[in-house]
Amino acid sequence: MLQCLSAKRYSSIKLLINVWNCECLYKNIRNIHNVGLEDIPKITVTNIRKILRQKGFAVQDGFTSLISKCTLCSGEEKTSGSKIYINKATGYFLCPKCNIHGNWNILERLLKKTKGEAFIKEIRETSHKDFEKVQNDWQGVVNETISLSKLNETEMLDLCRLFEYPYHPETNKILADVRISPDHTILYFPLKNTLDNIVGYRKVQAGKEDESEHYGLHTAGLYSCKAPKVGRSDQAILVPTIQDVLYLAGHKVPGTLIWLTNCSLPPIVLPVLENYQKLCLWGDWDNMRAVAEKLGEDRCRFVRPTDGLVTATEAAIANLSLKTLVSEAKPAAHRSITTFAAIRDDVYAELTNIEKMKGIKWRRFPALTRLLGGHRRGELTVLTGPTGCGKTTLCAEMSLDLAQQGVNTLWGSFEIRNSRLARTMLQQFAGIPLEQNLQDFQKYADDFQKLPIYYLAFHGQQPIKIVMEAWPTRGTATVTRGRTPLSRPSAPSPPQGIATSRSSCTPERNVNRKICLLVQYSAARKRLKKLIMCL
Ligand SMILES: [Zn+2]
Repeated sequence: MLQCLSAKRYSSIKLLINVWNCECLYKNIRNIHNVGLEDIPKITVTNIRKILRQKGFAVQDGFTSLISKCTLCSGEEKTSGSKIYINKATGYFLCPKCNIHGNWNILERLLKKTKGEAFIKEIRETSHKDFEKVQNDWQGVVNETISLSKLNETEMLDLCRLFEYPYHPETNKILADVRISPDHTILYFPLKNTLDNIVGYRKVQAGKEDESEHYGLHTAGLYSCKAPKVGRSDQAILVPTIQDVLYLAGHKVPGTLIWLTNCSLPPIVLPVLENYQKLCLWGDWDNMRAVAEKLGEDRCRFVRPTDGLVTATEAAIANLSLKTLVSEAKPAAHRSITTFAAIRDDVYAELTNIEKMKGIKWRRFPALTRLLGGHRRGELTVLTGPTGCGKTTLCAEMSLDLAQQGVNTLWGSFEIRNSRLARTMLQQFAGIPLEQNLQDFQKYADDFQKLPIYYLAFHGQQPIKIVMEAWPTRGTATVTRGRTPLSRPSAPSPPQGIATSRSSCTPERNVNRKICLLVQYSAARKRLKKLIMCL
């Protein structure tokens, strides 16, 4: 018992050490991202919400965070900024105002007040000190640099040449809050948090390959700007380079332009993006979908490569309209876009049932089987040809073939009487001219009757609605044969699938519950077209 307790205690201490390590500033170390899987608390959004509500906090549901009141700084001043953002997936929390942040275990302790006043005081003081350090550091940068807005046109041109940035007459307005060293070789991009407070900066030195350096609270802020005189604050465009930002601003693309140098978005920056209803991701990020998932797929859109041009910079150089490309960005959660993850089970099922997937082979037509593989579920086969060429005869024989292999078959013969159709099939079944061998009729008819062949009792032109009403009821009632029987007990072994126009048959099993059709098609073009539309 003691051992167990000490082990438990050790892990809490370790956890705290991890958190305190990540408080280190100016070290360019983001220890919070080095936490192992075992350190990630097993917390769900429901639990977070429950605990907050139990403690009497109102909870607002954001895209990536639950937003509540920060108890640590809300009492200090009457301001609206005392919000705490709690990441829904990890429980990582942050108050942009008092800078308190950490993983869920810390917040849970703060909420439950299990650690007492001393613990809260310590956290508060450390957070405050960290924030002050960042502010002082930025002030130091400001004192030694000048704003880009102060540069004249020639200086701006030189700067763009040196840093290989696209020049635009308003570049200094776009980058107004960027600072530049007196020798014009180092740029300092401020990183701002949700409250527009500077919480770090990115230093870019001309001619340096590894150009970015991050300072601040684990880069808790992002660099963003807007094209001059362009409004629309509910949309942000996320791009990987400052060149992309400048091209987009030059093209006056509406929205906030955010320079995101990589897509490992730590939970601490997510609150910065919380206010944007729409996020447009444009870059060569391989894991754009993973980024979108982190940001909330419903509000994300992707600009996909056009003619091999991946980034906004490439598109701009090729004289494409960036505005149009952004407006045509495709939703990340588009229903017609899927991932391998979503279909991998289907792929596995296909691989394990490779023979079945090839369809049911026609025994009477080995050449046809060689050509087409077999009669497959989920497919519509249209058989067409001039009058009298034998479409009905072939369809009858094909369906008979499949029915003899146990495939339920339903005929919807609108032009030939069912009795005549059945006579043809019985003839094919017997393999001898029955009119000359009437004495054998009963024997063949008895056997034929055992086959799973059904006929729709329609003849002549029929309104499509009536036909459709007849078939889904029976079709859906029976598609799961071999699995859970959905058919009514009174239904006499109903068909699995349905044929129409003149003839059809369905495969043995219909996993996707789709009706599989073999449609013979002669003059009923309009009817068939309508029918296909209804499927
Ligand atoms: Zn706070």
